[in-house]
Amino acid sequence: MRKLCLIALLLLPFAAAAQQPPDFSKVEIKATKVSGNVYMLEGAGGNIAASVGEDGILIVDTEYSPLADKIRAALKNLGVTDKPVRFVIDTHYHDDHTNGNAAYAAGGATIIAQENLRKRLENGSTGGNGGALKFQSPPQPKAALPIITYDDHIALHFNGEEIRVIHFAGAHTDGDSVVYFTKSNVVHMGDEFIRYGFPFIDVNSGGSVQGMIAACEKASADFPADVKVIPGHGAAASLDDVREYTKMMKDTSAVVAQALKDHKTLDQMKQEKILAPWQKYSGAFVNSDAFIETIYYSLTGAKRN
Ligand SMILES: [Zn+2]
Repeated sequence: MRKLCLIALLLLPFAAAAQQPPDFSKVEIKATKVSGNVYMLEGAGGNIAASVGEDGILIVDTEYSPLADKIRAALKNLGVTDKPVRFVIDTHYHDDHTNGNAAYAAGGATIIAQENLRKRLENGSTGGNGGALKFQSPPQPKAALPIITYDDHIALHFNGEEIRVIHFAGAHTDGDSVVYFTKSNVVHMGDEFIRYGFPFIDVNSGGSVQGMIAACEKASADFPADVKVIPGHGAAASLDDVREYTKMMKDTSAVVAQALKDHKTLDQMKQEKILAPWQKYSGAFVNSDAFIETIYYSLTGAKRN
């Protein structure tokens, strides 16, 4: 049994690719109130948003299944309700956001997600930036799959407010949603907005830098100016932070587009370090070369591997 558990852990797919598999025994869950009914939970993997109130608990994203008990304990420790997690909304299929799905389903939660996300979890998926960053997500068991799916949007009426789940097409993946808590005035952006540097964009799974820019511009235009923003990864933020990050994506895309116009090859763009002015965004996960590839494959629609 012990051996089996160990093997299961070793086989867990870590979609965050370049990141080391976290040591779950050492992970602590930090829960912070964002606004109204909504809390943000940070552990390992993507940020979780939680609506906690008299109707029970709804969470956006699930991190990793070995953390489910710690996450439940953190939610209970808020002292708001003893009721369980009743609904799970997945922002996109990557396992650092969905690996915990089955654990909450086993506890009676209903999983909700965009229909493309369900297909990718059910069939498995090859993720990547079109170039060197690449990973395999195996098919998931039925218990991890969304029960309710939608094409464009869906609304939940829970804990005294309307919770709008809105599909943004072809951004981080082809099955992204952002979740807007209308009364608490909080939006969870999934991985359409992150704070670890250049974003990973899953070009192999229908994402593109153009879609990321469009999604962030739409969010900046549609949500109230003072909305609290929960990013897919990193600290809570504002729409001004989203705008600054959108500008970085637009400016870097313009540089790669110009290089393409000048008939430069991908290797030339890397050798010439054309994204050097944005060096502060270059990280261990997505460095400048990986982001050049991301934009290149987004703009050219070249054969994706
Ligand atoms: Zn992701």
